[in-house]
Amino acid sequence: MTSSQTHTFVCQECRRSIEVDGAMRATLLETGCVVCGAPVTESDIADLQTA
Ligand SMILES: [Zn+2]
Repeated sequence: MTSSQTHTFVCQECRRSIEVDGAMRATLLETGCVVCGAPVTESDIADLQTA
């Protein structure tokens, strides 16, 4: 199975946009934004969709 889905994280504090995979997503939720350290919630990370 390929569960390496790509997500786009946009920090509400520093407005930085970062593409993350599943593992990085979990890390962000746990440790916060890698740029400014602001807390990250699930709603800050969206699945990449071609809508
Ligand atoms: Zn940030």
